[in-house]
Amino acid sequence: MMGHLPAQQNTLFYDFCLEKHIPEDHLLRQIDQFLDFDGVSKHLKSFYSHTGRPSIDPELMIRMLLIGYCFGIRSERRLCDEINFNLAYRWFCRLGLEDDVPDHSTFSKNRHGRFRDADLLRLVFDTVVRRCNDEGLIKGEGFAADASYIKADASRQRMVDGPVDWQRRPTQSRAVREYLEALDNDPSANRTQKKVSTTDPMAQWAGDKGPGQFYYCTNYLIDIEHNVILDVEPTPAYRVAELASTRSMIDRVEQNLDIKPKRLIADMGYGSAAMLDWVVEEKNIEPHIPVWDKSNNNTDIFNRSDFIWDSDADCYHCPGGKLLRSRWRNFKSPRSRVTKENTIIYRSSQHDCKNCEFKSRCCPNTTFRKIARSIYEASRDVARDICKTEEYQQSRRDRKKVEVLFAHLKRIMNFDRLRLRGITGARDEFLLAATAQNLKKLAQRRYKPPDHRIGVPVLC
Ligand code: SF4
Repeated sequence: MMGHLPAQQNTLFYDFCLEKHIPEDHLLRQIDQFLDFDGVSKHLKSFYSHTGRPSIDPELMIRMLLIGYCFGIRSERRLCDEINFNLAYRWFCRLGLEDDVPDHSTFSKNRHGRFRDADLLRLVFDTVVRRCNDEGLIKGEGFAADASYIKADASRQRMVDGPVDWQRRPTQSRAVREYLEALDNDPSANRTQKKVSTTDPMAQWAGDKGPGQFYYCTNYLIDIEHNVILDVEPTPAYRVAELASTRSMIDRVEQNLDIKPKRLIADMGYGSAAMLDWVVEEKNIEPHIPVWDKSNNNTDIFNRSDFIWDSDADCYHCPGGKLLRSRWRNFKSPRSRVTKENTIIYRSSQHDCKNCEFKSRCCPNTTFRKIARSIYEASRDVARDICKTEEYQQSRRDRKKVEVLFAHLKRIMNFDRLRLRGITGARDEFLLAATAQNLKKLAQRRYKPPDHRIGVPVLC
């Protein structure tokens, strides 16, 4: 006999314990074990008035946002709906069955107000990183840095050719106002852009990733032992900003956690001379970074490695046994030899090259050979020597760990486009996403199921 589902949903009283209905292996139960909002509440206290109607608990909003990032729910409206009828989400947010879920507009109000004033999302991120450290997930031996493009919330249709003469208008969007304020505070931040978004001018146009689009970059600094994200920073999608962010992240981790790595792993984009010099000389870290070198392109012509550097005599020895000097005569008043590109030019003598047997392989189109030596060449040599070692081969494999995190961010967490505008919007989103990734890592590596032995109290 076919059974029928009884349409009886009108029971008046239920004996229902939310705690008992959340499976022990549910991701949110595992994450919950590592969340601690005591420090957050204390920090936020001074940002709230001691009188008036009580606000929505900021802890509730952070918990809601974390659900969104963990499960790839990108819309805040949809997030509120999902929390309304998902028991596990309610449990994680500490909401009872009959408690109201805050309206989606609450997020926007708090984000642009207290959350940013108090730098709340950074505080939550740092708290989780510290917990990772306490749980032994950070070894501090090797760090890896990389950046990934994330589409900005800026339409291609709102693109104009730069430079743009911005006039302050009361109807300007928040992202434009923030951009103009940033320029007022630091005029050096003004950069030449060929294509500018009128909705989010800080975003950078990039056409080399398929059809042109505006992008931000999320920059990660991770510890390679367990792939914990130690720091995250948003930048417009161009290389100089990415290098600057890596420096500030390494400094911040040293300051916050008192950890400085033995080696820094990154791809060739980070192998500029100035960056390598900063890593070697200033931070005393081994750069496991390929050197950015354009001098070895043509294999038929002698390249820089065919010339032997003599640091004592401050010259190069060429394959023909002659010298390349930066100074062939003495001037009365000393001149700076450093060019705008921070290089010193070493050149051979025309007389030597004229009758040299190697001229066709050395300087076929000029009368002498020239080598531009970076003022940071010593640090570049350190990186070149490291690239020949066995450890470097391991570092090359470790470098992929950052890319795995970016793949997780985009594919599993559904994060391929920003919802918020401006660099502050990108910062909020990247911090929350990285916090969610670290919490998942803690849950995966350190979760301990609750003890159900007799005598151990059960929360209900
Ligand atoms: S061409 Fe000049 S620089 Fe080149 S190997 Fe001969 S002497 Fe040396």
